[in-house]
Amino acid sequence: MSDKTIFEKIIDRTVPAEILLENEYAIVIKDINPQAPIHVLIIPKHRILRISEVKESESSIISNLFLTAAQFAKENNISDFRLVINNGAQAGETVPHLHIHLLSGRPMGWPPG
Ligand code: 5GP
Repeated sequence: MSDKTIFEKIIDRTVPAEILLENEYAIVIKDINPQAPIHVLIIPKHRILRISEVKESESSIISNLFLTAAQFAKENNISDFRLVINNGAQAGETVPHLHIHLLSGRPMGWPPG
């Protein structure tokens, strides 16, 4: 696999970030360029490039990501939120390390842009 992404450097603590929650499988950090009053990223410690590349053997990582998102929302009393995964450049993916965006704190339009 190619060089470390910014997210692996954050996981390794070689690049600073505000880590809001951490468990065995994932970290939750504030997005550096927030698109809503609350915008965090749920990032698996094990690098999966993107959701279209996930393997059956990685299913526990995927379920943990969603559980971590729900835990973060619950612990922060966030009842209404949107989860987003951008898969591929045309969908808006800029970092090739799977992550879920959790956005909240403002009304969300549909369809998304
Ligand atoms: P994507 O565009 O791949 O779905 O999401 C990548 C996200 O990572 C973007 O929302 C971007 O603002 C965020 N991001 C990129 N570099 C950094 C960084 O160094 N620190 C933090 N906290 N977020 C970053």
